[in-house]
Amino acid sequence: MPSRFSIRDSVPAFSTTDCEHALFAAKWPDGFRCPRCGHPHYYEVSSRGRRLFECRSCAHQASLTAGTVLEGSRTPLAKWFQAMFLMQLGISARLLAELIEVTYKTAWLINHKLRHAIGVWDSEQPLEGDLQLLGEYYGYEYHRYLGSVLVQQALKPQPVVVGASLDAAGDFVHLKMKAVDGPEGDDAARRGDAGVEEAVERFVEKHVAGQADGDRAERLEPGHRGRSALHVAWREAVRWLNWTFGGIGPKHLQAYLNEFCFRRLHIRTDMLAELISCCGTTRTITYRRLVGLRAGVRPIPWAYRRLARPGQRVG
Ligand SMILES: [Zn+2]
Repeated sequence: MPSRFSIRDSVPAFSTTDCEHALFAAKWPDGFRCPRCGHPHYYEVSSRGRRLFECRSCAHQASLTAGTVLEGSRTPLAKWFQAMFLMQLGISARLLAELIEVTYKTAWLINHKLRHAIGVWDSEQPLEGDLQLLGEYYGYEYHRYLGSVLVQQALKPQPVVVGASLDAAGDFVHLKMKAVDGPEGDDAARRGDAGVEEAVERFVEKHVAGQADGDRAERLEPGHRGRSALHVAWREAVRWLNWTFGGIGPKHLQAYLNEFCFRRLHIRTDMLAELISCCGTTRTITYRRLVGLRAGVRPIPWAYRRLARPGQRVG
């Protein structure tokens, strides 16, 4: 008998038919619509083992995955759904690869395509109403060998703005964490709160709706530190980034922050259903575009510091 519980036990074995039904409902929530002419009736046809939906009016053939995040993928539908299920736990691509039995690159790509769908969902929901805003920096340090020398490397802190609207009970109605252009590293330290203030203004311009009725945002004072819901969420996000992934560089930081906020917002609702819906309505993104994506922050150079080994002088 196994002596400990494993995450393996919690991965459901979805049937292909169930996945097809769920994706159909996500892609066409109001029933089938021909992507070419908008006609609502179809014949189901099968071509080389693929199910196709042929429009009864114009004979256009649409596959289930066309126009969704899953388009063009050779990974079976059930594995995609398992990956969506596991995103509720926020696991790394390495663990995902092991659990759903795909290569690391496939797992990495699936996770990033899911994050892409989440990012599109997020971009359609600007913050509204009474807001709380918090300026933070994300950075981390780690050790690695360069040749035989152990060096400490540090990612220069990247400015991140956390913004949220809360309901009367203090629960998040919406939550965003956005990496923003801003002063970096030494410049940031030198400029202190002025830099954060600048970053917050950029965040408001881009992510907050209804600016016309005046600035209703409440900026959190340093005195709030550690106690507000925003601080707690930010600390959770940083812990997740650093413990699960060993820290995230500037290029993909935004995608991971989006994923974190999506999970946090669906803590009391059905995150899997919402994620399936996002995937069914979002066009896919290619690997080439994913790795070439320019992040919202400029590339930040790495800082090196040699650590002395016993009996060795650092020159
Ligand atoms: Zn048609």
